[in-house]
Amino acid sequence: MLFSEIIGQELLKSRLIHTVRDNRVSHAWLMFGPEGAGALPLALAFAQYILCTNRGEADSCGICAGCNKNNKLIHPDLHFVYPVNKTRSVDKETVVCDDFIAEWRGFLLKNPYGRLTQWFDWIDLENKQGIINTEESKRLAGKLNLKSFESDYKVAILWQPEKMNDQASNKLLKLLEEPPPLTVFILVSENPDQLLATIRSRCMPIKVPRISEKSLAEALMARHGLDQARAINVERLAGGNYCKVLDLIEGSEDVSYNLNKFRDLMRSCFRKSIPELIRLAEELAALNRENQKSFLEYGLRTLRESLVLHYDSADIVYITDEEKGFTPNFAPFVNGNNVLSLTHELNKAIQDIERNANGRIVFLDMALKLSALIKN
Ligand SMILES: [Zn+2]
Repeated sequence: MLFSEIIGQELLKSRLIHTVRDNRVSHAWLMFGPEGAGALPLALAFAQYILCTNRGEADSCGICAGCNKNNKLIHPDLHFVYPVNKTRSVDKETVVCDDFIAEWRGFLLKNPYGRLTQWFDWIDLENKQGIINTEESKRLAGKLNLKSFESDYKVAILWQPEKMNDQASNKLLKLLEEPPPLTVFILVSENPDQLLATIRSRCMPIKVPRISEKSLAEALMARHGLDQARAINVERLAGGNYCKVLDLIEGSEDVSYNLNKFRDLMRSCFRKSIPELIRLAEELAALNRENQKSFLEYGLRTLRESLVLHYDSADIVYITDEEKGFTPNFAPFVNGNNVLSLTHELNKAIQDIERNANGRIVFLDMALKLSALIKN
């Protein structure tokens, strides 16, 4: 991946490029940031720049033998670690990344901004969680202790290293403490707090912020052919998250569905109608995990906007024409007394869904609590 293919993040790109050009590449990096900000694409472009044999001042050449292999993610000096688990097609005692390398390449080549749950769906993990086990750290150590094949450097990208178990973390720590020569580790994390502090302290931290409004709107016009008005609207809904942009553009996030269901849910909460709440909870529980989260995130956004509307700042609220029929009517019921508790319940439901809790219980529990918080 070229730096020029990354949306925004100009300061970070320039910083990474300069460390290579000035020969100051640390042996371990921790790139962290929220979903859709582009930490993994940045890691891929950084790795390619390190491995490029004819690098330019501002980017990899894109055409040398190294770049050619990097374009297909088959460079022998580029290694990956990412969470996996048993699936129907890969069912054996110890499952490792290499069992899924073809799928991994396909996933990244389709969309390097892909999110963790999309990866799990890509390899049909069903309801299992992906993990990084001890065998993985052992194998990585084995690969990195070999001499590099084609480049001076070897690069290892570890995606979502917070999914390592304790043993795997300790093994990785050993590797970071005594790194093989000419090796660069790039850890790419959304939750760096979940890593061992001793691992974090070994890495050069790179915070990847949400993509700026300007860069995202420009990308929407240049890459997706949106006119300016639609680009600004999508950019506002997405909030600097390119995963969300793709949901919105590709229609996998159904804003109308979310709006209608959130409106139904709030009305049933308001009426304290238990049979309606049960019916809605069942319906939401039947959605797939990604759509469940998308619904809950939509609810969070509506709460934020309702609160702002409640306090009369109509000019800074971004709502679509469709939402204008609901949000202003809902706003009087969201206030400083209940907004934190309402937000807490939605966030808690998102966490429970991510942990694979039973959807029917999560949604009904949440609905009952929201109902108690919304006073008529
Ligand atoms: Zn090159």
